[in-house]
Amino acid sequence: MQWYGDVEAKPAPGPLRRVQAFINTLDRESGQDRLADPADAAEWLIAAGLLDDGAVPGRADLAVLAEVRESLRALVIHNTGGPAPTAAQLDPLRRLAAGAPARLVVGDAGAVEVAPVGSSVPDRLLGLLLIVADAQRDGSWVHLKSCANEDCRWAFYDRSRNHGGTWCDMASCGNKLKNREFRARRRSR
Ligand SMILES: [Zn+2]
Repeated sequence: MQWYGDVEAKPAPGPLRRVQAFINTLDRESGQDRLADPADAAEWLIAAGLLDDGAVPGRADLAVLAEVRESLRALVIHNTGGPAPTAAQLDPLRRLAAGAPARLVVGDAGAVEVAPVGSSVPDRLLGLLLIVADAQRDGSWVHLKSCANEDCRWAFYDRSRNHGGTWCDMASCGNKLKNREFRARRRSR
């Protein structure tokens, strides 16, 4: 099944694209959720490296995925100038960080990396959190933003020169909101 997030108008670079894709498994405008149904979710999760081949996520896995997704969305909204995430919003990420083990791995070229140990859904999600950590260090993280349309909140990577990007896609959200404001202004006149 094709998913909107499979073709991003404003894709993040490198591994950060995986974090963006995960956040965008929920289309808030239509209410469609790629991770709501276990069988349907399995296909996406396996392709995204968040689930072992042939596995099916349990209800508990889907619950963890949904809450971690909203935590990450809260971080990305903060990147867009929104409020700092609350303790409740950070809690799923903190539980993930506290509960899933990671270890150091030395690659063939000598590159030292931190990698999750297990292969459960929370372990794989820890891998996404490690990508966030890398992006926070290399400076790319702050450019992963959330659409200013509150009904949308799609995650997009802001490549604009002044880093002032506001919309997931100007053709849809930006223009839609602009038209709405325009109509409201006209009415108030
Ligand atoms: Zn949008």
